[in-house]
Amino acid sequence: MSEKIKLPDGFRSWEADVKIGKKEDKVTIGHWADGCKGCLICVDVCPKKVWKPIEAKNKYNGQLVTVVKADACIKCMLCEIHCPDFCIKIF
Ligand code: SF4
Ligand code: SF4
Repeated sequence: MSEKIKLPDGFRSWEADVKIGKKEDKVTIGHWADGCKGCLICVDVCPKKVWKPIEAKNKYNGQLVTVVKADACIKCMLCEIHCPDFCIKIF
């Protein structure tokens, strides 16, 4: 039995069925927009172009990111590891 993932308050989430190599899996991608400064490191490091910049108001520079291809995620964790503000959670 799988447990429902509980993200911290304020996180938006995307869920998808993914295939990693030959293995079927599920991914939950969480993003905390209030902490995101739009540095785009996640966009740059993601090998599958899961993240995309969007114009949106935030407290830093009016740019945020969003998930556009959750089902392409290979759970490599690069975005979560490199986000300087701990705004990404991958399960
Ligand atoms: S875990 Fe890897 S593939 Fe998935 S969104 Fe992050 S960088 Fe992209
Ligand atoms: S790396 Fe983190 S702070 Fe930078 S744009 Fe991505 S989610 Fe936002």
